[in-house]
Amino acid sequence: MKFELPALPYALNALEPHISARTLEFHWGKHHAAYIDNLNRLVAGTPLEDDTLEEIVRRADGAIFNNAAQAWNHTFFFYALSPAAKLEPEGRLAEALARDFGSFEQFKSAFAAAGAGLFGAGWTWLSLRGDKLEITTGSNAANPLTSGAAPLLTADVWEHAYYLDYQNRRADFLATLWQVTDWNVVEKRYEGSL
Ligand code: MN
Repeated sequence: MKFELPALPYALNALEPHISARTLEFHWGKHHAAYIDNLNRLVAGTPLEDDTLEEIVRRADGAIFNNAAQAWNHTFFFYALSPAAKLEPEGRLAEALARDFGSFEQFKSAFAAAGAGLFGAGWTWLSLRGDKLEITTGSNAANPLTSGAAPLLTADVWEHAYYLDYQNRRADFLATLWQVTDWNVVEKRYEGSL
């Protein structure tokens, strides 16, 4: 198989009480794994077979796009979480957040409101477009790479991301994500995208 499920960079129970081991068992171990299995099956024997995951996200459509983007999005989501998260950005990213959203607190409010307001399944994103930060949402597997932005942070608001822990309380899940979102990771992404 070409693509493999990336190992989580922490133990399944490491994000408790914010995200339970049970949630990660399913979210990473079943949902994320299934997107990768489906992608491997779908690209076999096609011209996309030798492309990187990011190339497939940029070029594919239909079922191949859906599974490739879900694979990309989940790795990006899980890898920005940490049990020892740096809870506030510093340096150039902190300055850019204050410049484009007023303050870090206002950014967090706007990001969470966007995620809470997205109808149905999808993702909320912080991205760099040109030299400006933006918050966007996308349904299903949508990814800002396809519109020329550089993703920096995402929140998965599919029900499978939070239902075992928070049932219908998506806003509570989004609020708790700030306790495990590692701004060290986001700062590195931002510096790499400048
Ligand atoms: Mn998910």
